[in-house]
Amino acid sequence: MSTSVDDAGQQFIDGRRRRGGSSDPLTVTNPSNGDVVATDTLASAGDVDAAVAAAKAAFPGWAGATPAERSAAMHRLAAELDAVADELATVESRQAGKPIRLTTGFDVPGTVDNVSFFAGAARNLEGKAGAEYSGEHTSTIRREPIGVVGSIAPWNYPLQMAGWKILPAIAAGNTIVLKPAELTPTTSVALAEAARRAGIPDGVVNVVTGLGPVVGEALVTHRDVSMVSFTGSTRAGSRVGSLAAGLVKRVHLELGGKAPFVVFDDADLEAAARGAVAGSLINAGQDCTAATRAYVQRPLYDAFVDRVADLMSRVVVGAVDDPATDLGSLISLEHRDRVAGMVDRARDAGGKLVTGGRPGTGALEAGAYYEPTLVVDAAQDSEIVQQEVFGPVLVALPFDGDDEGLALANDTPYGLAASAWTTDVFRAQRASAGIAAGCVWVNDHIPIISEMPHGGYKASGFGKDMSTYSFDEYTQVKHVMSALSRQPRKDWHDVVFTSGPGEHGTDSRIMTA
Ligand code: NAD
Repeated sequence: MSTSVDDAGQQFIDGRRRRGGSSDPLTVTNPSNGDVVATDTLASAGDVDAAVAAAKAAFPGWAGATPAERSAAMHRLAAELDAVADELATVESRQAGKPIRLTTGFDVPGTVDNVSFFAGAARNLEGKAGAEYSGEHTSTIRREPIGVVGSIAPWNYPLQMAGWKILPAIAAGNTIVLKPAELTPTTSVALAEAARRAGIPDGVVNVVTGLGPVVGEALVTHRDVSMVSFTGSTRAGSRVGSLAAGLVKRVHLELGGKAPFVVFDDADLEAAARGAVAGSLINAGQDCTAATRAYVQRPLYDAFVDRVADLMSRVVVGAVDDPATDLGSLISLEHRDRVAGMVDRARDAGGKLVTGGRPGTGALEAGAYYEPTLVVDAAQDSEIVQQEVFGPVLVALPFDGDDEGLALANDTPYGLAASAWTTDVFRAQRASAGIAAGCVWVNDHIPIISEMPHGGYKASGFGKDMSTYSFDEYTQVKHVMSALSRQPRKDWHDVVFTSGPGEHGTDSRIMTA
């Protein structure tokens, strides 16, 4: 890995970096200033075949390693990543336009912590206790890896998403072919290289960088890929899910979000306003759990809007390598224009901009910058309230009764994350139960932790990343039922044939499928 233009290839197959097999160029660009970060050619379907073949060949050895061996290798991986943390943070910042303070303080240490967590969890694959449930057999559970996992990741947190996909899969004994977003492959390849340095066998972790409809679909439909794990938009996830369903493959979908931020009238206003600014602007709002819809109970509404606008106006938008920068650029000029288009349409439809609503100016004009933006007076059924913006844009809307606030919070197709702001424990509990989302924060919004699951309800998908819950996705449960006696004739045979009246009764505890 280098901080100059990287042309060593954005594919990592069978323990080796390679250039892509297609003739189409791949240029990774710093969206904050247009600088080229890496050049390659895109992966081809042949690269997918090679990567899947390497993963298939590596599977028996890796699945057969003891949990302690897998754990030790992953502990070494955490150390390898930690040793290059500064370099990783720089490259992540450059390829995704993220402020260096975010990559140094969040993306990289979060990934190292995730590796450490799964190194430990690899030795803790749990199952139900074995017992003699039938009286005539011992039942035990085996939790087994699935095989070759094909994973597809988005561009918003490239390193963290690569980690979320790779780590539970390999901790459980699977091997993996990861397709990162074509805009941001460099730190996924760096993670695979670190895995090799850590002694994780060649073929266990592979990376192919190509286009979603070409390389992504070739991976999803490959006959030797046993499971598909996808993080990205609901639109692409729906396509991936239908391809996987057609082939009866296990599929795990982590999709879009439109997180509500519900402020009750007894909330600490300053805490809620600060939480809304941090929660909506993290990663320039390109976060599937970002606070996007602030519903504020009427008595606090005006003060909340004023304070959020005031705090947003103080956010430092700047060069991503400057540690003083709070807000970096969006992922591309195309995406910046998409965000701007949604804000413009909200304004045309009667919404008002309290602050923001403009691209970067002056020295930032060439980058994909967009100002922190607060929109009010938008209709609940409007595009800006219902659809993912994936930019530094917060919409604030008032509500009256508690039930109305929760109903509005639930009124989008998504259900990934939400927060409730209150100092009343009963309201907090009612909101936690009443909001349909995979995570509800109380008096905070955004923190994630390796020990706890992340995953959606509704159109935000199904299945869990992080935590030992993710092993439910990446393992299959086998029931082993062993007869306790050598006796050729079993009691349950009586329900099929009898070898003589009165010899044995029927054991009603034996169920047949
Ligand atoms: P995207 O859906 O456009 O792309 C995600 C990945 O899917 C990319 O690698 C892309 O190349 C690939 N892809 C696209 N079409 C495909 C196809 N037909 N077959 C196979 N692969 C295909 O999303 P994006 O713009 O990269 O990322 C932003 C989206 O990701 C947002 O919707 C965001 O909410 C979501 N996201 C969700 C989570 C979560 O945990 N739920 C986390 C991060 C991002």
